[in-house]
Amino acid sequence: MGIANDWSIAWGIAEAAHKAGAKLIFTYPNASVEKRVRALAEKLADGGTPIPVYPCDVQADSQLITLNSVLEADGHQLDFIVHAIAFANKDELKGGISQTSREGFNLAMDVSCYSLLAVMKYLKPRLTQSASILTLTYEGSIKVVPNYNVMGVAKAALEAAVRYLAAEFGPQGIRVNAISAGPINTLAARGISDFTNMLKHHEATAPMRRLTTKEDVAGAALYLLSSLGSGTTGEVLNVDTGAHILGPTPAGM
Ligand code: NAP
Repeated sequence: MGIANDWSIAWGIAEAAHKAGAKLIFTYPNASVEKRVRALAEKLADGGTPIPVYPCDVQADSQLITLNSVLEADGHQLDFIVHAIAFANKDELKGGISQTSREGFNLAMDVSCYSLLAVMKYLKPRLTQSASILTLTYEGSIKVVPNYNVMGVAKAALEAAVRYLAAEFGPQGIRVNAISAGPINTLAARGISDFTNMLKHHEATAPMRRLTTKEDVAGAALYLLSSLGSGTTGEVLNVDTGAHILGPTPAGM
């Protein structure tokens, strides 16, 4: 869930999972994204077994309920779900957080955090015994990142949700984790004011002196989604070329 185009983190994970032998299912939120998602699904199918593609706007319970029914009718069980979904109005991703509107706050929280709970609620019947759920977060949840604003609050809530879900589903052998990725140039990220400078700063200062790639994230995702990560749940794994370890840097150093 969350492929918008071939820059999407979810697409990077899909490519890696496909290469590792996973059978995939894609979802799309609306008609304008559908065409792109179907084209990418065909690319992976490469003339072989088609990848099923279903609509699912996570803001609509009815669509999640339908998704569960359609998956059941088509005989699909899920070994893993990748929830790579977030949204905030562009206006909320600049300036001071105190200017966030009530509507904008609720929207960001609904799409970027509540949706993970809703996915677990409605797709639970489709999960296999040792299923693994993965969501995507960002360091702006625990540290102040200029312009990230309400999305930082939503990501903090999302990370807490990961822990609560991991505790709830753990007894059933179902794991829930998050990857905290460094900034990657995607459609969603471009909505953050001054994102280009965020990238430049990350590249110049991260311990590995390079940007995080969606392939970096995909590698960690394979670990968490597969039996390689069988003992890991409730975790927020940093995949950010080391940026999260840095403290304040005195001027001139
Ligand atoms: P992306 O390619 O733009 O993916 C975001 C996806 O969320 C899009 O497919 C978007 O669809 C979808 N979405 C938005 N509202 C939805 C809804 N109501 N129902 C279903 N899907 C909806 O950007 P991305 O950077 O790969 O983002 C994936 C995840 O990684 C997000 O949670 C993001 O916060 C997180 N992340 C990103 C970065 C980064 O720097 N890029 C870093 C850390 C974490 P539309 O295109 O139709 O809106």
